[in-house]
Amino acid sequence: MIDFPHEPLDLLVVGGGINGAAIARDAAGRGLRVMLCEQFDLAAATSSASSKLIHGGLRYLEHFAFGLVRQSLIEREVLLRGAPHIVRPLRFVLPHDPGLRPRWLIRGGLFLYDRLGARGVLPGAASLRLRGDTMGEPLQERIGDGFAYSDCRVDDARLVVLVARDAARRGAAIMPRTRVDRANRDNGLWRVRLCRDGGGAGEVSARVLVNAAGPWVADISRLAGIRRRAAMRLVKGSHIVVPRLYVGEQAYLLQNEDRRVVFVIPFEDDFSLIGTTELPYSGDAAEARISPPEIDYLCRAVGRWFRRPLEPSAIVWSYSGVRPLFDDGAASAAAVTRDHVLELDTSGGAPALSVFGGKITTHRKLAEQALDRLAPHLPAAGAAWTATSVLPGGDGMPAGGPAALARQLRGEHPFLDAAVALRYARAYGTDAYAMLRGAGSAAALGRDFGYGLNEREIAWLAEKEWARTPEDILWRRSKLGLRLGPAAAQELASCLETAAPLRRGAHAGEDRHT
Ligand SMILES: Cc1cc2nc3c(=O)[nH]c(=O)nc-3n(C[C@H](O)[C@H](O)[C@H](O)COP(=O)(O)OP(=O)(O)OC[C@H]3O[C@@H](n4cnc5c(N)ncnc54)[C@H](O)[C@@H]3O)c2cc1C
Repeated sequence: MIDFPHEPLDLLVVGGGINGAAIARDAAGRGLRVMLCEQFDLAAATSSASSKLIHGGLRYLEHFAFGLVRQSLIEREVLLRGAPHIVRPLRFVLPHDPGLRPRWLIRGGLFLYDRLGARGVLPGAASLRLRGDTMGEPLQERIGDGFAYSDCRVDDARLVVLVARDAARRGAAIMPRTRVDRANRDNGLWRVRLCRDGGGAGEVSARVLVNAAGPWVADISRLAGIRRRAAMRLVKGSHIVVPRLYVGEQAYLLQNEDRRVVFVIPFEDDFSLIGTTELPYSGDAAEARISPPEIDYLCRAVGRWFRRPLEPSAIVWSYSGVRPLFDDGAASAAAVTRDHVLELDTSGGAPALSVFGGKITTHRKLAEQALDRLAPHLPAAGAAWTATSVLPGGDGMPAGGPAALARQLRGEHPFLDAAVALRYARAYGTDAYAMLRGAGSAAALGRDFGYGLNEREIAWLAEKEWARTPEDILWRRSKLGLRLGPAAAQELASCLETAAPLRRGAHAGEDRHT
């Protein structure tokens, strides 16, 4: 048995994806006693398998989802201010093909997109002559023109960890590798049994249960006897990663003949990220993997627009995630609403709040709405506070963003390689100073496993970011798995073993293709 707190918690959150982490953070900041339990690593499921965009979702305008797009665009600005190290502007090129959507429709959509939400620093949409322009170089000769518009990108898994760190900083207990395997109402409280990965179990009680289990939300409802009205629809989406397809920091939005769109996004400096597919899914979300038809679909989507055909043999990594969408009865997976639904069940005494759907982009707002919804049941809760808050490492960022911070870091630690300093600046923001504190030479940071992943950074990840396994570090706290081979992963495992018992964590469906 493990000794968990005996006093009842105000809130027990099931699920360490973006939504569970955001709700735990918001609640802790309102002065509540909070615990978050995640069965695997933080962001092990859908929240590390997204397209990694902080965006309004241009294509949702075609489904008349104006409210969702507007809310997302407002949140895009909030996140740019609150996490300037990991949320970065991204310029999209939308090449035009007169045989697909007409020019007037795209122009109208972009006009709306620029005006629906707030837009501070991001440049507005513009028409582009692509033939003869560097942005048009990777595209086929027939593409004469198109459009450009702005959105943002994010490291989704790191965003979850930063939100969880902020929750912990405000008093929340963050418990990765802790599965909720039983929950029942008893005398106005929830009694919840928790099982630790690697052995040990215990029980906690809580006034309110939050079911933020993503694709497993229905399982938790069943297990806890939560009455559920909302229907769920699981939709699998896969991405492929290939060596970068073109020079430049722009992304491309490629229209498909099935009226869907495919993103091609610069990824980790030397790669391109291509996605996504959208397929109904009914299996275990932890087992979702890309299928040969999905690979074919994504390669063909690129081949329709790019000069150089994309062969499946170029793929170095792929991952799949399962969207836990609220079923609004739409005919196709692509048309199901991306908006979230919060369902409160008070039928059996102690309240339970379940989260359906949502986007990485709107996590903060979702959490705020969740806490507002629970306010009558948690009279001690303070007021909403996250709209102007900053995530760890986002405070004191120089105006020039991560590039400027990387220069400052090298000023203080001249032995740092430029690419490594930039990686630290993008991952840790101003917390990189704390991580490097006192280091006067590369040797002071300990053994380097490659690309600046040294013992000092590993200790930081283990102590501050709950990392326990090579997968946690190579594929979620960073994407160094793209560069470091299995031998480095093995050495990293030995290094972690000396620090703490090593346990292999499950994670979002991903396959190495090398
Ligand atoms: C292909 C794809 C692309 C996307 N692209 C974007 C994008 O570009 N931008 C955007 O804004 N959004 C995007 N999204 C949407 C976004 O990723 C999801 O809405 C979001 O990640 C859902 O987060 P969550 O916290 O609800 O679920 P999850 O991240 O799945 O978290 C739920 C967690 O609950 C845990 N859990 C389950 N059962 C238990 C239990 N019994 N005990 C303890 N823990 C448990 C799971 O292990 C899991 O980690 C995309 C989604 C997909 C699939």
